[in-house]
Amino acid sequence: MDIFDKARKALGDLAQTASTQGRVLQLQGELAQAELSLEREQREAGIVARQLWRERKFGDTDFEVIMQRITELEKRMETLRAEVNTVQQEGVPERAKRCGQCGRELAAEDEFCRGCGAAAPERRQPPPTPS
Ligand SMILES: [Zn+2]
Repeated sequence: MDIFDKARKALGDLAQTASTQGRVLQLQGELAQAELSLEREQREAGIVARQLWRERKFGDTDFEVIMQRITELEKRMETLRAEVNTVQQEGVPERAKRCGQCGRELAAEDEFCRGCGAAAPERRQPPPTPS
C-alpha cells in the first residue's frame, strides 16, 4: 500500500468522487505545510527569546512580528480544516460545463450546445455515487 492509498483510506471509505479525494488530499497537503511553518515560527520565537534573554533585553517588538505570523498560520489552518470537513461532507462543487465552440454555459444534461449546436464536452467528473 503506497502513501496515497493510505491517505485515501484515512479519508474514510465513504463514497467519494475522485475530485473530492483530490481536493481533500490537496487541503491536507496545505495543512501539513502550514503545520511545518508554524513549527518553524515557534522555533524562531524560541531562538529570539533566548537571544534577548542572554542580552538581558526582552523587548516585545521583536516578538510582535513572529506572534502575528503564528496567529495568521493558526487562522489559516483553522480555515483549511473547516474546508476539509466541508469537502469531505459535501464534495467539490461541480464546475459548470461550457460549450467548446462558443463558450456558452450548458446544463449538465445537455448533449448539444443550445447556442451553436456543437456537441457538448464530456462531463469531467462522474456524478457522486449514491450511498
Ligand atoms: Zn456553442
